[in-house]
Formats: sequence, structure tokens, C-alpha cells
Amino acid sequence: MYVYADNAATTAVSKTALDAMMPCLTECYGNPSSLYAIGQRAAEKLAEARSVFAQYLHAQTGEITFTSGGSEADNQAILSAGMIGAKEGKKHIISTKFEHHAVLHTLRRMERLGFEVTLLDIPENGVVTAEQVRRAIRPDTCLVSVMFANNEIGTVQPIAEIGAVCAQAGVLFHTDAVQAAGHLPIDVQAMHIDLLSLSAHKFHGPKGVGVLYARKGIALTNVIEGGAQERGKRAGTENMPGICGAAAAFREACLHMDENAAHLIPLRDKLLTELSKIPHSIINGDRVKRLPGNVNLCFEGVEGESMLLLLDEKGISASSGSACTSGSLDPSHVLLALGRPHEVAHGSLRLTLCETNTAEEADYILSVLPGIVDYLRDMSPVWDELEHGQRKHQI
Ligand SMILES: *Cc1c(COP(=O)(O)O)cnc(C)c1O
Repeated sequence: MYVYADNAATTAVSKTALDAMMPCLTECYGNPSSLYAIGQRAAEKLAEARSVFAQYLHAQTGEITFTSGGSEADNQAILSAGMIGAKEGKKHIISTKFEHHAVLHTLRRMERLGFEVTLLDIPENGVVTAEQVRRAIRPDTCLVSVMFANNEIGTVQPIAEIGAVCAQAGVLFHTDAVQAAGHLPIDVQAMHIDLLSLSAHKFHGPKGVGVLYARKGIALTNVIEGGAQERGKRAGTENMPGICGAAAAFREACLHMDENAAHLIPLRDKLLTELSKIPHSIINGDRVKRLPGNVNLCFEGVEGESMLLLLDEKGISASSGSACTSGSLDPSHVLLALGRPHEVAHGSLRLTLCETNTAEEADYILSVLPGIVDYLRDMSPVWDELEHGQRKHQI
């Protein structure tokens, strides 16, 4: 059996998305900036794709900018809000310790540009509160950036409450909604969201396509300079196959959101319940306020990387920490922010399911994982010390 359980890293392109992409690669290859018919047909497709995102985000079409992915959208959102703030002498930004690196590294750049950044601590359950945000806001705060759902532990923030706090304080609010888009309802009006990033390859669209929503009146700063595409805010000939695939995938995900969640939540909960019965294991993040397909636990005395290799031998693709940090020996910054000690954070496992994963696949994971944990513990000198009381159990 093969089980792909790493949908937070990327997803398979759906048939619907592929069908929407193909015509852009074949008969409808025109440049949407060209005046002749084949170019104008592409321009119509571009407008249609934009209206799909506007519709399901409750935005206007003029508020949607296509980018090369979630990372670029995050960069542009933060840079733009910073430039707006700087004009008013406001150079303080609030974010959190468990953001994606696309946000955290952009914030580091902002610091080099003279901004001051406050990163909020992550509470025990992995859910940032609106009260934390409210307390951190200062007269010189220009931006609050809090992710909608965390990519590692899947926890979902109270975005509408945080948005209301920001709106009341007159501070711009950005949310990295890459993990939430297509999986949770998003309403930029009701949630008081000023800037939002999403990425197509996290909801069965193609890689290399993102969306930046920016509320009307917010002046975007270009990250890519050049032609006048995207109202002059993002230069470069539009990635037409990617954009059309992204829109088709987004529509499909939004239309089937409830039934997908109804399918995934029981699978997620069964995995969390059964895997947390393994001795000296702990669930990472709130059990309820989490994405429908996210399972994340730490197993003490186990090396995450070794677990992944053994799972791979059994035909299961999973993840430990974030893909961006694999290859380095540092444990996940998200698990450290959650308060997991280094050694415990190293033994993390993330399983992220999508609607095509089945109950049989979840059972298959449950049939092999406890054996893998036992096997690795048997070989581990650290586990030996833990078992013989020479080292204290931390979980
Ligand atoms: C994947 C991801 C990104 C980056 O999106 P890309 O399209 O891969 O650049 C940003 N933020 C979060 C939360 C993600 O999961």
C-alpha cells in the first residue's frame, strides 16, 4: 500500500485543475496583454480566475494579485505594510514565533530596514489569542501578521477576533492563509483581514502560483519590477496555466469544504487518539482547533528522520518538522515555540491527510507506526538511559 500523508508540504494536482490548465498550454496560449483575439481570450480567462478568488474570499476582483506562490505573497504583504507604516513614522510590526519562514525571514529583512519586530509567544495549545495581539499593539505599530493555520501543528487562530482588534486599533492585519485556504471558510470582510496570502499547491492546484489579497486602498510595493501586469503591482507575463489551474482547484476545494472536513476529521481524530496511546508520546497543538487533516505528535527517544525513513520503506510519505528545515539538525522552530524541549522536538511526526486518503490508509499507518517507534527505541542509547532512570522522561 502507498499512502501520501504529507499534504501540508504539497498536494497532487487535481483532475479539475489539470483540465483547466491544459487549454492555456495548447490552443489558448496568447499573452493576456495582447490585443488580438487569442490574447483577449487569455485575458478573459485571467479575469475569470481572479473573480473565483474574489468570490470565495468575499473580496473584490481589484483586490486580487497573482504571485509566484505563497512565499512571494507573504513577502509583498509585509513589505507593503511596512512601507505604508514608515510613511507615517510607524515602524513596529507584530507577528508570532511559529510563522512560516516566508514571514519570519521577511520580518528579519524588515528589521535590517529599521523596523522593530515583536514576535508573540505560542501558548501551550498552539493557538495565539486576540488578547495577546491587543496587548502588544503600540501607537507606532503598523502591521500585525498572524498565520491563519499553522503548517506544522495545524492549529487555527481566532482570525476574526484578531482582525477586530487590529481594525479597532487602526493597524493593518495580514494573515498567511496558505494552510487554511480551501480547507476553512475565509471571509476577508467579516474577519477584518487587510492582506492575505494563499498558495495553489496546498489545495490541489499547481506549484508556483499564489494570491495576495490586499484591501482596496492599500498601496502595494512591488517585489518584482517590470511591465504593467497585475495593475502594475506584480510585473511579469502571467502564469496562465498555473493561474487557471489554481482558480479551478480553489473553487472545487471551497465547494467541497464541508464534506471534505466531515471525511477528514474522524480520520484525524482516530490517528491522534490511537497514536497518543504510544507511551511517552504527546500531541502537538490543540486537538479541536486544528486543520481537519493535521496529525502531529512527538515520541520521546525517537529520531524523527529515522522514523520517516522507516515509514518510507513501508510506503508512507510523512514529515517531521518543516520541509524547509530538513537537512539541518535544528529542530522545528514551531515545536520549540510550543515549548517542546530540543530532544522531544526531534522526535516529531506530522501526518497531513487530504480528501482522497481513506480509512484503510489510516488503519495501515496505525498498523505500522507503533512497531517503528518500538524498533527505534530499542536501538536508541538515549531511550536506554531513559528506561534505566539515568535520564528523566520529559513526556
Ligand atoms: C507552503 C507555505 C508557504 C509557502 O508557499 P509557497 O507557495 O510554497 O511559496 C507559506 N506559508 C505557509 C503557512 C505554507 O504552508
